Amino acid sequence: MYDVIVVGARIAGASTAMLLARDGYRVLMVDRDRVVRDAQSTLYIHQSGVAALHRWNVLPEVVATGCPPLERIRHTAGDTVLDGAPSRTGGVRAAYAPRRRLLDPILIRAAVDAGVEYRPNASVNDLLFEDGRVVGVRTGSVRGEAEHTERARLVVGADGMRSTVAARVRAPVLMQDPHHTCVYYTYWSDLPPLLRTFEAPGRWVATIPTNDGATLVAAYFPQAQFPAIRGDALDALLTQVQKTAPEVREEMAAGRRLEHVHGTGDQRNFFREAQGPGWVLVGDSGHHKDSITARGITDAFCQAQLLVDCVGDGLQDPKALSTALKRFAEQRLDALLSAYHSTLKEARLESRGPRTDVPLGMEIDQKLVIH
Ligand SMILES: Cc1cc2nc3c(=O)[nH]c(=O)nc-3n(C[C@H](O)[C@H](O)[C@H](O)COP(=O)(O)OP(=O)(O)OC[C@H]3O[C@@H](n4cnc5c(N)ncnc54)[C@H](O)[C@@H]3O)c2cc1C
Repeated sequence: MYDVIVVGARIAGASTAMLLARDGYRVLMVDRDRVVRDAQSTLYIHQSGVAALHRWNVLPEVVATGCPPLERIRHTAGDTVLDGAPSRTGGVRAAYAPRRRLLDPILIRAAVDAGVEYRPNASVNDLLFEDGRVVGVRTGSVRGEAEHTERARLVVGADGMRSTVAARVRAPVLMQDPHHTCVYYTYWSDLPPLLRTFEAPGRWVATIPTNDGATLVAAYFPQAQFPAIRGDALDALLTQVQKTAPEVREEMAAGRRLEHVHGTGDQRNFFREAQGPGWVLVGDSGHHKDSITARGITDAFCQAQLLVDCVGDGLQDPKALSTALKRFAEQRLDALLSAYHSTLKEARLESRGPRTDVPLGMEIDQKLVIH
């Protein structure tokens, strides 16, 4: 019998498991993946997310991967260019954009160091219910090995946007909005190490410096264009960069593409109910939004900390746990709702004329220079 079983061992799962184990709980963390691969992501972690890594004492390892600190941002909208510095949050000035194949193992290692039992290659196929309450999970390996059942006081679904835990508990959808964008990105060599965003009606481009001297180049398109561009995503990406950020396209000519093109047309926008008897959802499983504002990782860290703060030492007592989970659900909505709405606004890719407000919902200080 575990105190907690965490399903999913990535951003949301590993950080939640780590924090619960540091609080003295007996935690099992399972993931259906056998090895950690790069997840689909444009990698950007806002200052408040970096501040969480700092507080949890894992930031030094992230910095040691060599991903550059991102201390300036430039946003171009037509003739208006905004230069800014991220505001200091929780003692942290820089944002970072580490490769997920580096970041996720750091979080997993921190969880294991805290005492979490980590079981990769273990897919949760079903949940165990008793008297309407979730009391455990049924796992089978992806390779079809024997099934196991494991029991716990609390099952945390940190298993992503297509969450099995959410499906099995039939978590109600509290809020849902249409898909707005699709996105394609790749990695390029020899670009200036600058965090830049460019917007124009119906278009959005970003350059995000990451590990190994590479820069991620991303382009967002209206969702309606997805069927037309998915067949030749590289061409669509390069054309979009040419139209929206011609100086970047010129710089790209001097460098080379380092990887194939990644992307998705399935950027859902929703909140699911976050909790019920014996279960709770953190990260993408409970809440997902368009990646244009790059908030998924930061928000997952926020939820992990919030959940563990709400649970406190009340996990052994079913009444205290139920109250704590309800408090978590309420505070999660309070914490994330405004960023959800501003993300939807950005994701509509509408023209708003010259822009002097803070772009992207990013945490930028007021020292903006308009050229
Ligand atoms: C194109 C794109 C760009 C993005 N860019 C950014 C960005 O720049 N910045 C940012 O902050 N966020 C970004 N995001 C969002 C961010 O990647 C996610 O919010 C984040 O990965 C969520 O982490 P998670 O742990 O909740 O879920 P996931 O990373 O999806 O992890 C879920 C884990 O659960 C496991 N799992 C699933 N089902 C089961 C099961 N049945 N049994 C066992 N294990 C299971 C999976 O194997 C996986 O390891 C982007 C997303 C996309 C799609």
